Amino acid sequence: MREVGCSEEELFSFLSRARAKDIGYRNILSSMCTPPHPVALRAHAMFLETNLGDPGLFPGTAALEDLLIRRLGALMHHTLADGYATSGGTESNIQALRIAKKRKPTGFPNVIIPESGHFSFMKASDILGIEIRTVPLDAEFRMDAGAIEELVDRDTVALIGVAGTTEYGVVDPIAPLSDMALDRDIFLHVDAAFGGMVVPFLDRPVPFDFRLPGVDSISIDPHKMGMSTIPAGCLLVRDPEYLSCLNVDTPYLTVKQECTLAGTRPGASVAAAVAVLEYLGMDGMRAVVAGCMENTRRLIEGMETLGYPRAVTPDVNVATFSCDHTPAGWQVSRTRAGHMRIVCMPHVNRDLVEAFLEDMGDMDA
Ligand code: PLP
Repeated sequence: MREVGCSEEELFSFLSRARAKDIGYRNILSSMCTPPHPVALRAHAMFLETNLGDPGLFPGTAALEDLLIRRLGALMHHTLADGYATSGGTESNIQALRIAKKRKPTGFPNVIIPESGHFSFMKASDILGIEIRTVPLDAEFRMDAGAIEELVDRDTVALIGVAGTTEYGVVDPIAPLSDMALDRDIFLHVDAAFGGMVVPFLDRPVPFDFRLPGVDSISIDPHKMGMSTIPAGCLLVRDPEYLSCLNVDTPYLTVKQECTLAGTRPGASVAAAVAVLEYLGMDGMRAVVAGCMENTRRLIEGMETLGYPRAVTPDVNVATFSCDHTPAGWQVSRTRAGHMRIVCMPHVNRDLVEAFLEDMGDMDA
């Protein structure tokens, strides 16, 4: 650290130089995040110093977290769902597996995960000492539900399905998973970190949430399609008991126990998440998602016209292509199988899609 601090002017010119090196969202087609909605920014600023790790000191902010859980629980068709605001999908997935492991003590726990599962499950497996058993995908990159049975045994503590896969934007067949979870009495976690704020707003939503009786917990991230500020994830559970099993005593706080992974937790991004939901409502979210899906379809059509076929028709706003090159100035990503991957987030508007297609066309010329 410096012996003597610098001037404010020097400091902010240093910070501005660092910030200027960031790639602007305008050219980012690879991210599942997006610039926060203006009401999220305003709410975030209002709650900047709040700490949900000690909720008795911030009862107003804590009530907003409760409201967030109620709103998202209702969106997931379970008004009595419990949960809390996490730092994102990774924390939610780790916590879901902690619950599953505690609910079924066994010497060599394993979890059944589709090959498309997010890498956060690797972290969870490492931390919790749970073996990962991967289920192959079908031709459309969805979990092959028929292949699960032979992987399950008496040490299986959880089944995982993904609603809106990170790489290909498809929804796993959660209904058969739910049946199997009920039949075999196995905990079922749905990773809807991305799709949880997309699928409910589609014209024909595929079932993936608490409406399916075997679903025990869901990850859903306001800091992705919920246009909140970062960090804002959510873990929802069907039964409040599931969270209680994670409780530890917190002697010197305003609450006597907590179930969260983090201690100090931001209230600002939670207020931001609530702000977007309240401001847009179901109608507003439907419009945002409809726009993203429309742009996804236009991108697919445009790329195919240029000779780059889609890898799959996605369920949510993630488009993937057989295309090896990327025009200069654009940030796209690649799936593990090498497909070009573009996430049509709210900032990836129609003009941006057209500009990208034009640059793709110019590359061929
Ligand atoms: N689950 C899915 C399906 C994701 O797409 C992601 C991130 O893209 C995560 C979990 C991890 O979320 P986070 O990066 O917020 O921890």
